[in-house]
Amino acid sequence: MRILSTSTEDLKICSDLLKNGETVAIPTETVYGLAANALKSEAVEKIFLAKGRPADNPLIVHISDISSFSEYCYPTDEAYALAEKFWPGPLTVILPKKDVIPAIVSAGLDTVAIRMPSHPTARKIIENCGFPLAAPSANISGKPSPTRAEHVISDMENNPYVSAVVNGGPCECGVESTVVSLTGEHPCLLRPGAVTVEQLKEVLPDLTVAEAVLQSLPENEKALSPGLKHKHYAPDAETVCLCGSTESAVGYIERHKDGRKTTVICFEGEENCFCDCKTIVYGSPDKPETLAENVFDALRKADVSGCEKIYVRCAPPKGTALAVYNRLLRASNFCVINTEEET
Ligand code: AMP
Ligand code: MG
Repeated sequence: MRILSTSTEDLKICSDLLKNGETVAIPTETVYGLAANALKSEAVEKIFLAKGRPADNPLIVHISDISSFSEYCYPTDEAYALAEKFWPGPLTVILPKKDVIPAIVSAGLDTVAIRMPSHPTARKIIENCGFPLAAPSANISGKPSPTRAEHVISDMENNPYVSAVVNGGPCECGVESTVVSLTGEHPCLLRPGAVTVEQLKEVLPDLTVAEAVLQSLPENEKALSPGLKHKHYAPDAETVCLCGSTESAVGYIERHKDGRKTTVICFEGEENCFCDCKTIVYGSPDKPETLAENVFDALRKADVSGCEKIYVRCAPPKGTALAVYNRLLRASNFCVINTEEET
């Protein structure tokens, strides 16, 4: 795997690889994406092989120009209203798909997910290519998403299906895009992200939130968004989310000591509160964007530290913190404890 910079020369190498039907990991404002030509099935197949991604989990198509929006799907008035307000940016819309998008991209569905990223490097690469890029997160399926080039290298270094990574530094948002489906009776939030429910409701007052955003789906239930049902974002060590005050979280951890090497992914100011545990600070609940920016890096750091158990402090699921909570639910296999209630 080659490591490329964001220089004009290296971005030309990147788009040549993509034009040649290869995959390249590229920076976006959300997380690093593993990109391939969205119009070529053989190129897109390499993404699934590289990630070990289940074939029933569809990909997001990335465009660099609003004028190409309607080439790949049938945009509604609501879709244009969202695009006007939030594009380029971390919002994906699901719409009925046009035939030029191969079935492998949409996992056989007759709808397609589309987004216009704001990251200048991602946009430049799409422009150079002249075709849209399918690009899911550039991690091995099931692992925390990559928000730095080092994360991609750690997952994909010797992967025969990945030709290069473009190092654009850390990602600004740190969590994947907000996903809204516009194919049902009411617009529906399928995945929370940096564009918040509160912001979306200004454009879509009748927005609903899919049940799977905040809870696990019963076995056999058909997911509105197939990605919601797969195991996701999980470190190797057992992970438990702790909601509640610092004091009650300290008490909980103290009462549940079991001799295992434990790391606490905590808020700013809590780093000296948990005796006998290693701590990784990931941000402040007063600034949930900091939690989003660092959550995946913190989960990866905890794993690299070789701990056997991870506790993660959770902020109340509002605004951007809803996206962080949604990822932590899945990273912990829905193991969430309210330390204020636990006796
Ligand atoms: P990723 O690209 O890994 O961030 O994942 C893309 C997310 O968008 C996954 O949760 C997919 O299930 C979801 N998605 C993509 N296409 C569709 C679609 N046509 N209908 C519903 N969800 C979709
Ligand atoms: Mg992903």
